Formats: sequence, structure tokens, C-alpha cells
Amino acid sequence: MSVNQQAHAGPPYGQPQPAYQRYQQPGYGGQQMPGVPHSQYGVYNGPVPGHQQPAPPQGYFPSLGLPSKGSPVSLNSDTSSLAPNFIGPLRTPPTSGAPPPTSGAPLPVGQPAYNQFGQGDVQNGIPASAVQMQRPSVSQPFIPGSTPTSISQLSSFQQYGPSPTSAQQLTNHMARMTIGSVPTSAAPPAGLGYGPSTSVSPASGSFTATGSGLYTPYSSSQGPPPASMTHGLPPTSLSQGVPLAQPAFSGLPLSMQRLPSQGPGYAPPPSSTGIGPSNYPSTTGAPRPSTMQSPPLSGQALAGLPASQPNHLSSPPPPQQAMSGPHPGPPMTGLQGPPPPPTHPSQPGYQIQQNGSFGQVRGSQPNYGGAYPGTPNYGSQPGPPPPPKRLDPDSIPSPQLSELPPQQKPRHRIDPDAIPSPIQVIEDDRNNRGSEPFVTGVRGQVPPLVTTNFLVKDQGNTSPRYIRCTSYNIPCTSDMAKQSQVPLAAVIKPLATLPTEETPPYLVDHGESGPIRCNRCKAYMCPFMQFIEGGRRFQCCFCSCVTEVPPHYFQHLDHTGKRVDFYDRPELSLGSYEFLATVDYCKNNKFPNPPAFIFMIDVSYNAVKSGLVRLICEELKSLLDYLPRGGNLEESAIRVGFVTYNKVLHFYNVKSSLAQPQMMVVSDVADMFVPLLDGFLVNVNESRTVIASLLDQIPEMFADTRETETVFAPVIQAGLDALKAAECAGKLFIFHTSLPIAEAPGKLKNRDDKKLINTDKEKTLFQPQTNFYNNLAKDCVAQGCCVDLFLFPNQYLDVATLGVVTYQTGGSIYKYTYFQLETDQERFLNDLRRDVQKEVGFDAVMRVRTSTGIRATDFFGAFYMSNTTDVELAGLDCDKTITVEFKHDDKLSEDSGALLQCALLYTSSAGQRRLRIHNLSLNCCTQLADLYRNCETDTLINYLAKYAYRGVLNNPVKTVRDALINQCAQILACYRKNCASPSSAGQLILPECMKLLPVYLNCVLKSDVLQPGPEVSTDDRAYIRQLVTSMDVAETNVFFYPRLLPLTKVDVDSDALPAAIRNSEERLSKGDMYLLENGLNIFVWVGVNVQQGLIQNLFGVSSFSQISNTMSTLPILENPFSKKVRSIMDMLQAQRSRYMKLIIVKQEDKFEMLFKHFLVEDKSMSGGASYVDFLCHMHKEIRQLLS
Ligand SMILES: [Zn+2]
Repeated sequence: MSVNQQAHAGPPYGQPQPAYQRYQQPGYGGQQMPGVPHSQYGVYNGPVPGHQQPAPPQGYFPSLGLPSKGSPVSLNSDTSSLAPNFIGPLRTPPTSGAPPPTSGAPLPVGQPAYNQFGQGDVQNGIPASAVQMQRPSVSQPFIPGSTPTSISQLSSFQQYGPSPTSAQQLTNHMARMTIGSVPTSAAPPAGLGYGPSTSVSPASGSFTATGSGLYTPYSSSQGPPPASMTHGLPPTSLSQGVPLAQPAFSGLPLSMQRLPSQGPGYAPPPSSTGIGPSNYPSTTGAPRPSTMQSPPLSGQALAGLPASQPNHLSSPPPPQQAMSGPHPGPPMTGLQGPPPPPTHPSQPGYQIQQNGSFGQVRGSQPNYGGAYPGTPNYGSQPGPPPPPKRLDPDSIPSPQLSELPPQQKPRHRIDPDAIPSPIQVIEDDRNNRGSEPFVTGVRGQVPPLVTTNFLVKDQGNTSPRYIRCTSYNIPCTSDMAKQSQVPLAAVIKPLATLPTEETPPYLVDHGESGPIRCNRCKAYMCPFMQFIEGGRRFQCCFCSCVTEVPPHYFQHLDHTGKRVDFYDRPELSLGSYEFLATVDYCKNNKFPNPPAFIFMIDVSYNAVKSGLVRLICEELKSLLDYLPRGGNLEESAIRVGFVTYNKVLHFYNVKSSLAQPQMMVVSDVADMFVPLLDGFLVNVNESRTVIASLLDQIPEMFADTRETETVFAPVIQAGLDALKAAECAGKLFIFHTSLPIAEAPGKLKNRDDKKLINTDKEKTLFQPQTNFYNNLAKDCVAQGCCVDLFLFPNQYLDVATLGVVTYQTGGSIYKYTYFQLETDQERFLNDLRRDVQKEVGFDAVMRVRTSTGIRATDFFGAFYMSNTTDVELAGLDCDKTITVEFKHDDKLSEDSGALLQCALLYTSSAGQRRLRIHNLSLNCCTQLADLYRNCETDTLINYLAKYAYRGVLNNPVKTVRDALINQCAQILACYRKNCASPSSAGQLILPECMKLLPVYLNCVLKSDVLQPGPEVSTDDRAYIRQLVTSMDVAETNVFFYPRLLPLTKVDVDSDALPAAIRNSEERLSKGDMYLLENGLNIFVWVGVNVQQGLIQNLFGVSSFSQISNTMSTLPILENPFSKKVRSIMDMLQAQRSRYMKLIIVKQEDKFEMLFKHFLVEDKSMSGGASYVDFLCHMHKEIRQLLS
């Protein structure tokens, strides 16, 4: 079945629900102001953010008493108890308010002067000529101009014009697998074989500029923080004083609460919730036998199959491999550690082979390598494993091998060194393309890989940091596109952080008339618009409509037709820039108030007992001084508010005029309302002492709590109502520990059931258990209320449901299973710091416009859509991506190419309304070979993973896996049929750009969402499903194919990383240590034979057996090796959007199984195929399609 023929699953949670307050979408603003003198708008005003609006009000001034807006106030409810109160006597100020010790550059802010390049560098717009840039073949050096592209230099780009697509072949000539390369019919031969490269560059560049960019919290350049809030609070005794007036509530049925009020004699509550952290917190790997039988090996040649063999994918699995029931074990309830060991840990997956024809297995995973209980007859007949490929005395012993007589060694195996290697491709790209900047002046250029460190020069197309495409050359017709099955998609990260060497988008202020737009399609002025009639009108590059140039924007053209002010205007010469939005772009035609952050802390028993509440409060004291400032503001405009909750909610008045914070309790959670307006959201500096006092007192107030139940939906509702009342957008930071079982709206039940895995009902595990949260999310989006969720579960808490609001509001979700202060504190605090400080666009709407012929048809990511074109994001941060798929609605032309324009309207953290525009021009082709030469496999995998992860919401997982395999087989078969030169059917021929498609696809198929091992919890799967949906290409790349670095190869005198190695156990040496990272975890694997000196240097212990596998950080030791390894880890952490958890794995230790899960070229414990097997399988699929 074809993926593209499958009906698209809708946005995961909920379908368009039109009826709520929105902006007037397509046509806002853009009308010219008649009679405005030209000079007033003349040129781009450079670095000055020409924001002329009146300063937004600092705070709001509600009428005393009832909330003027927002949810109905139910003050007459008998059950509401509002208790303005004083919070106990002040405690001595703590001394721990210092900012975390980190330094570095701030997130790029401000609007630098627009002098990026001199006049004459660029021609008007993007040349429409068919200068076709291809990714150079790996054998060719990349020689771009060393200076920004000029017209004359365009020719130099052409010098490596048609890329010599070297097709890679797997042949089974003479009954043995050989791999070679043949030229395609469309290109001269220049291929490299897959053979072991002799030119592996050791230790090439560090990764600092890839993906999410550098991030360093607590920038030293932000200036010193204001005086600590915790400093110098005079002790007072206001607890006996008169309550400061709360006039609104006087006379209302408010119950007074005096805090702290808990008496002594505390006893732990009868815990129905698990409080016993397991030995191994977040990844509950059940220990498994570490020694397994080798699989039977096939001696059959790969390609010797009869072509008529039925497609095994469509045949039902044999009964003994039925997908149901391999995951015993009760749902996780109550006090419970990791799930019990599986009785049938394997899931056969696709590799149900009755004949074993492709079941050739490398024999060099002797101890663990292959058959696991429950995988019958993998491969055909037992056969001898192949000889070892390396003569490494430290390589893992292979007793079976040595026992075998040489003549029995198989002759028909595939040499793993001879199949396409991700490491090699990454290295080659880094060597070929990492040394020169990527200049965006040419249409349809394939950028360097995300793993390559390169600089970008914007010369009219947006940077690949903002947009990456699956292909940079689009088929001209939909028939061609369907034939190839290559999805056409763009992965867009509109607010991506740039490396410090690159310039953030310039801000353009056109004054009251706003941005210049096409009259018909409303596209924004961009480098592709064509000025005509002496500059009086322009023709839209998207819809061809001709629009008058407003008088204030008029400029003469030079003899080439280029506007004279071309270089003064970012919107004419750059791929990415921002416009200051006018009031027409604002909700209710009113400029927005600055956003607010509300911290909502679960203070139930588990949260208090684990030390979490105290940790959060301590951290906030210093962290609040680092709220995003959205540019060059002296201090953040963001106001803050605080709520704590268990079964009831506690609101805090932290108005600056108070000497002490006041608490109000709302116990009527069924009808949530915010009991105070004035004093709930405050400026941090103004209310510094009151906030500090509150954060000191919260842990004390609840220290003796016995409340174990929590509510959840009312918490979000309260935050939403508070933002509504304050008439602002904002973000809720919710710290939550358990399944919300207390009586309240949105109450949930434990419905975890692993028995559903591999049944038709498995999809329900990914679906929310109630629609309640979808509706709540809709309300949040309408208000611009983004919800970030920090989860600290000791058991199932239904991430699939709790995450709905977070997901649909563009928020982030973090999960710390079995949270323990000692081991998880650093990770949590780093995540929190980054999350609080990162730049966020609020109340955002994104639209992608395209030139005639294609249009955006499908969207993936964390957002909400109420119609088919507008992506609505309550919040969008610098790490989030939105993936857009395109389909043809007409023919495209090779001459004009195809254009994308992504426009994001948002409110900055300073409260400024802005439009960020990214433009990208792509080539179009009539030859399939051009398509296959200009694809990006990393982006393709990013798209396919998101597509599949959405598919599991509505389809059996097996169906989704089969569809993925089928689509990729069709992609490769189409290439073979149309682009490769005629050759034997026994050859597997892969396009150069896609030679990693099989290995990466296999990683997606084996991932926890699509093929979970028994140790993977339902919540983990839901969590990962959500994470991947918003990941950028760099993140999915390392998530699906982790980076594995040999630590003993580290050069302590060099900045470079050691060369990565392939993710396979046979690459590991027991005399070495390795670091593996996948964006969520960092493993350090220690072989049993590692030199004692190295162990001493890294772990500070004298022997292998003394290494503790519970350490969460490496000890700080003063030797070069320790320093170097820690600096590598710091560098890796800085590249990722989340702080990775460190896990120490000793060889042959019980946690080694966990580590092996990430050796993705090997067969997985959950039944995922090895790379070699999968490649053979793909080959068979392709042959069937071709026959
Ligand atoms: Zn237009």
C-alpha cells in the first residue's frame, strides 16, 4: 500500500473547529496610506527597531473585585473558598540565589545594521536561469566562490553542474554479494564504491553550528542580574498584621487560611501512588539474558530469489508470530518499579520470512547477536557465521567463529563495510562542504548536511537553518511526482537560533502602512517580486497579479530592471527578514500587551517528598531574572504569576505593595476562576521581595502535606483565565507528578494496557482518553496561552492525554520518570532554565504561500489548525519545527521554478507584533534523474518519521510500518527503473543522495513508537511521538541514528571530536570506551578491558568493577582526558534543545541491553531488523516492484 494513497490522518488531536475568536485572516492590512510623503518611508531604518506604538501598559488595571473578563466568576458558589491571607513569618533569606554558573552569548537579539554585503554583489532577485545546483558527488570537492555570489560567479557554480550521480549497486554476481557503482543513464560515471574508504578524515569539525544552534543560558553579556530577590529581606512579622485589603472579596464566603498551618505529627499518607524510585529511573529496562543464541544463518544468495515470489509484506504473519500478546505484564499501577521481564520479548515486525531468503546475518555479534526467544526461523538454515572483519585483539570474542572449520564459512554474506555507511557520508559532506559558506543566491541549491558545520550567507533565499526540503528540484508534473513517490515537504523552523557568526533577520518598518503585499494572494514583498513599468507596479511571483507600488515605496529601476534601493531593503535582497506589524495585524485591532509567564506547581505529596517543590522554588528565585527580553529591552516585559495546586488551587497575590504574599484557595475546581487580578501577574523587579518571600514559603507551607491526588485541567483553565483577564498571551509552566484522578473536569483514569500492543486497538494508546483537553486546547490557542509541561511520574500518567494541550498550543513537554533529586536535578534544571529563557513567539499564525502549480496540503507539528491554511500557535519557540507537505495542483515550469514563502505573524516576548518572512526558490525538472540528484535524505526521514508517527493515531502500527517500507521501495524502484543504467536485476542500485535511505528508514521502523520493546512504557511512546513531531532535521538525524564516538581516540590537544563510528556492536572494542548520544540520552559505554589508567582518569576509581553506573555526571578530575571528555559532553549538550541524561554502561552489565537498543545497525531485541537484513529486504521489495 502506498503511503501517499493513504488518507492523511488529520491533525492528531481534533479537527478544525472554526468557531472561536481569530484574526481576520487572509486580508489584514497592507493597504497603502494615501498621501503619505515618500520621505517618511524612504529607506530601511536599519538597526533601530522603529516601533512607534505607544508603550504598552505596564500591568493592567482591572476594576476592583470581579474579573472583568474571562471565565464566569462564581463567587457565590458555596464551595469556593477564597482566603486572602498572610503567609507566615518571613524566614531568613536563603543564600542560594546566585545565578547558575554559565556564561556565553545570549540568544541573538537586536537588529543589527543592515550592511551585510556591499552593493554590486547580487543581481536583482534570484536568477531564474536554470542554474542547477546539485549536491556534489562525494568524490568531488565543493568549490563555491570564496566571496558572496556575484553574477560572474554564478558560472563558477555551474562547473560542477550535473552531478555525476554515482549509483551504488549491490550485486550478487557469481553468487556472492559485491557492491560497486555504475553510472546512471543521466550522468557521467563518477561514483565511489562503498568499499572501505581510504580517506576517512579523522576528527573533523565540531558540530557547533548545526541544528538548534548554540545555547548558553545566563549570558554574561546580558549584564549582571538585578540584585537577588533573596537578598536582604528584613524580617517582619506581618503574619499577625492586618490583611491588606482585598476589597473585592470582603464579605464573600472566603475561608481564611493561615499558613503555614500544618501541625506536627505528620505521617506519610497511605500511598496509592508509587513513590519508590527504581534503581534505574527513566528507562525501565528489565534485565534480560545477556547471552543468546546466534540466529540461524542463511546461506542463500540475496538476489537469487525467484522474482515471482509473492510480496511477503502483504501476506499474513504465521500464527506463531501473531502480533498479539507478546507483552505481558499488567498496566503499571500502584507502587511499582520497572515492568517485569518479558516472556516473549520479540516482535517479528516485517521480517516474517518463511524462506529466509534475505535472512543473512553477519555472524559477528556472537554473544548477543541474533535470535532471541520468540523469533523463530529467522533465516533459513543454520549456517556458519562469516569470518571476523577486523583483526582487533580487543574485539569482542567470537567463540563460534573460531570453532568453525574454514570451509564452512559462508561465502555469500554482505560485508557490512561495503554497504552505505552513514559515518562515511557525514564525513564526506563535512570535508567537501564544511569549509566554505553556503551562499543562498542560487535557486534550488541543496545545502550541506545538518551534520556539517557551515556558515550561511543569505543572498535571497532563506537559510537551511530555517527551511530544509526533501527535494530542491521538484517534478514539473504531479504524474512524475506520483511516479517517484518522493514526498515533497519542507521542514520549517521559523524562529531558529542562528550561530553567533550569522546575522538574525533584519526588522523592516514600513510605518503605518505596513508591509507591501500582493493585492490578490497577499504574499509579502520579497526578492522574487518583479518590478515593471519603471518601478510603478510589481508582478507577484506567486500568483502573477500586478499590484501598484504605493507612492511611498516607489523607487526607480536601473538598466537591469533592479530597483536602485535594492541593497537598502532586506525584503528585496534577502531570503529572511521581519516586518514590524501594524495594528491591522493585531487581535481586535489592538496592539498586544506583553506576555506573561505563570508558574503552576504541583504540591501534592510526591512532589513535596521528592524535593521537587523546594528545588523549583529555589531555582525560580534566580531564574526569574533571566526572562526573555525580546530584543534590547533593559528588563524583560514579561510579567509573572504563581499558582500551586493539588486537589485545589492556590493563587498568590505578590503585588509589590504587599509586605507579604497572600494566598487564595479555590476549591471549586469544577468551575474554575481566578480569584484575584490585581497582584497576580507582576513585574519581577517591582515585586522582587514579595516573590522571594513566596518562593521561600511554598516548600514550608506544604512540607507536611498528605494530599496525594491532583487535578490537571482546572490548572490549565486557571492559567488561561488569568491571561484572558490580563488581556495578554503567555505561557504556563506546569510541574506535574501524577495521573489527575481527583474529582474535577478532565479527571482521568488509568487505562494503560500493554496488551493492546500489536492489536488493532494499539492506536488508542496514542489517543487522548477524553475530548475534554482538545476543547481546552482550542480555548488556549484563541488566547495565545502556550502550555509547557514538566512531568515527574512514578507511574503511568497518560502522557497521550495530558500532552494534548501542550501539543496543540506549541508548548514543550519534558518527562523525568522516577525523578530523584540527586540524579535528575541537573537535567531538570538545565531544561527549565533553557525553557524559561528561550525566545518565544506568542499568539502566532503561520502561512505558507507557494507559486502557482503546488500548494501546501498537509502540516505536521505542535500547533492547531482551524482551517486548511493557517497554522496557529499559541507559542512557537526557537526549537520547534513545522513540517509542510506540498502537492501539485498544476504543472510547474523548469524556467520559473517553484517558490515558497513562509510568513509567521507573532508577538515577541517584548510584546511587539512582528511578521517573519522566509523565502525559498526551488528548481523544477522534467527528468526524474534531476529529482533524485537533489534530494535530502535527512529531511526525507524527518518527514517520513512524522508521517508515520501521526499515522499510528489512526492505524495499526504494522500497517504504518508496511506503508513506510512500501513507499521507500517505490522511491528506489522508480530510480532504478528510470534513472539507472540497465544492469542485472540482481543489483541493488541506490541513488547517491538516497543511499542512506534504507539504513535510516530501518531506524525509524525500529523506533520505540513503531516497534516497542517490552521495556518501553506507554507513556514513553506517547512522549517520544510528541517530541519527534516537532523535531528539526538535525534532531531526528541523531535521534534515529545516534552518534557513537570512541573516547579513547580522543585527542586531548585538539578541539576536534574523534571520528564517529557506526552503530553496531561489532564496532565496539572491549578495550575502549564510547560515548553515544541521541539527543535525549548520553551513554558512556566502558569495555571490560579498558586500561586502568583511563578508568582512573575518567571516573576517579581504580578499577572497572568500581565504576558506579548510577552517576549522573562525570566526576570533575584535573587531568587532560577527563577535561576533554567533559568538554565534549558540554559541547554536545549545548547543541541539543534538551539536556541529555548521562547513563554509564559497563560492558556485560545489566544496563547494557539498554545501550544496545541504540546500536541501530544491529538486530534489535524488539525484533527490528539489522541494517544488512533490512537492505536485503528492501532489495527484494524493489525487485518485486520492478518485475
Ligand atoms: Zn500574488
